[in-house]
Amino acid sequence: MRYQPVIGLEIHCELLTGSKVFCTCRNEFGGSENTRVCPRCSGMPGTLPLLNQGAVKLAAKAGFATNCTVHNYSAFDRKNYFYPDLPKAYQITQFEHPICTDGYIDVAGGKRIRINRIHIEEDAGKLVHDDYEGVSLADYNRCGVPLIEIVTEPDFRSVAEVQDFVTQIAQRLKYSGVCDARMEQGSLRVDVNISIMPYGSEEFGTRAEIKNLNSVKSIGRAIEYEIQRQSEILDGGGKVVQETRRYNENHDDTKALRSKEEAHDYRYFPEPDIPPVLFTDEEIEEIRKEMPELPHERFKRYTEEYGLPADDASLIIAQKEFSDFYDEAVRAVPEYRMISNLMLGEVSHLLNESGADITEVRFGPSDVAETAGLAAEGTISKGAAKEIVSILFESGGEPKKIAEEHGFIMDNDASGLEAVIGEVLAKNADAVEKYKEGNTKLFGFIMGQAIKACGKSANPALIKEALTKKLQ
Ligand code: ADP
Ligand code: ZN
Ligand code: MG
Repeated sequence: MRYQPVIGLEIHCELLTGSKVFCTCRNEFGGSENTRVCPRCSGMPGTLPLLNQGAVKLAAKAGFATNCTVHNYSAFDRKNYFYPDLPKAYQITQFEHPICTDGYIDVAGGKRIRINRIHIEEDAGKLVHDDYEGVSLADYNRCGVPLIEIVTEPDFRSVAEVQDFVTQIAQRLKYSGVCDARMEQGSLRVDVNISIMPYGSEEFGTRAEIKNLNSVKSIGRAIEYEIQRQSEILDGGGKVVQETRRYNENHDDTKALRSKEEAHDYRYFPEPDIPPVLFTDEEIEEIRKEMPELPHERFKRYTEEYGLPADDASLIIAQKEFSDFYDEAVRAVPEYRMISNLMLGEVSHLLNESGADITEVRFGPSDVAETAGLAAEGTISKGAAKEIVSILFESGGEPKKIAEEHGFIMDNDASGLEAVIGEVLAKNADAVEKYKEGNTKLFGFIMGQAIKACGKSANPALIKEALTKKLQ
């Protein structure tokens, strides 16, 4: 790469409120067209907005989740523009006085990405283009859905940094109950601003903005494409123009939508129908106290207190429900590694195979905990623990009972082992001789024969011990 990319993000997130931001229509994804609308959110003249306090609180939580300052004073403005998905012909947003500013998130590699601001605004409707009939239809269900917009400084220099940041934002908002962060459903959408400059330069180039990316993967591809496109322009002696572009997943390219508007194009002015949002310090502190443990804090607990490898900890926290399940299991039985291994091994394997979710399984955290406990204390083998999980997955039940019924309880009485192992060694005299001559690989084979002979209730650890002694 000949040029240094410079990237800043604007991320829109739908807030998990029960109703819309300025009316009492239900805030829910989907529904038949124009069934979740009222005179307010469909922009009828004479209606007045009523600010949803829950949305304000969630916006403040988003601020706490990203190290922002949450302000005592914030206020709403009108952003004027005409488009058929916006029946009022203006969007209510926060321009001069956003609720949160000056945050940051540290991305992989330890780099700090600064967050300029987080403001509250309303979503617009959706246009459905029917090319066959040659008409466009407007669905206003999404009008007035509460959003926050998170705006970063242009601090990113690589795709990896952007992808890590977006993943972290999605997880933190999900953990805080601010947004369900389902990118594929559009509840978290990313606009990427990107420019390039020669390496070593201090002066940023002209940027293009790529709108509404809805997966971490397409963010990466859109950036790669854009770097290539802008590099070719500069190499050819041309100039990048500031404009808004759309990424097309099927073609894997970006196309110009419109030239960039400036703030003055929108004729922002203070929204006269909504009073400013005022918080006392105490009220802000009350909201801060409601913040749950965040994913990066959980990561720290798993690695530092529980001794999990970093990769395992990341895999567990990736899905909040999965991590909650793990937390409840280790609260019941503090076998951190054993439970983690079972969950990332057998449980994940079964979930992947069946396409099910951890919230849909027939067993609970205490069942996995009990199974791990049985294995940890030597009542069953680790292999049997896996089999119990798979039985729990198929038909549920109680781990201890399953262990008994299936003969998984290990015979921890070593007295009988000696005789059986003696027989095994006699039967496999050839292998034993070669082993003693130095072919140590044969230990596994002999061990396998011994386990087979002792039956599945035998304790592999005891067999190994007895075998090792005999072979010396
Ligand atoms: P505007 O007011 O024109 O919308 P902002 O300063 O608000 O511009 O920036 C919008 C987004 O563009 C931010 O995410 C910011 O980080 C990013 N950005 C600004 N300048 C550049 C640049 N030269 N290259 C890449 N991204 C940029
Ligand atoms: Zn409404
Ligand atoms: Mg801006």
